[in-house]
Amino acid sequence: MDCLFCNIAAGKIASRKIYEDEELFAFHDINPQSPVHFLVIPKKHIANLMECNAEDASLLGKMLDCAQRLAVQQGLGERGCRFVINCKSDGLQTIDHLHIHVLGGRKLKWPPG
Ligand code: 5GP
Ligand code: ZN
Repeated sequence: MDCLFCNIAAGKIASRKIYEDEELFAFHDINPQSPVHFLVIPKKHIANLMECNAEDASLLGKMLDCAQRLAVQQGLGERGCRFVINCKSDGLQTIDHLHIHVLGGRKLKWPPG
């Protein structure tokens, strides 16, 4: 299966990497929607959050912890930011590899359209 984010995590497609460990990869979004906009993904291919179950709880926890730590590193700790997971068609997910968006650096609007 040819997946863009699997290829990014494997270094086969270039990205502006922020962080990498055995299980996770984080990189700046190519089309940022705020001054800071990066993505945290698992290296393992998981299509979306609906595919997850209790066995993925540890990985999901690590993704959230990583997103939070990197948000602080990127200067978002004091004013905060938004952590977003779009899921499937109604959620407007466009890349079918699980990812957390971290958006910050400006006051965001709510609710989403
Ligand atoms: P989704 O709409 O699936 O929640 O988010 C996918 C995100 O991936 C979008 O914000 C989009 O800009 C980003 N994206 C798509 N292709 C690439 C790429 O090749 N490189 C990077 N860095 N981001 C990408
Ligand atoms: Zn993938």
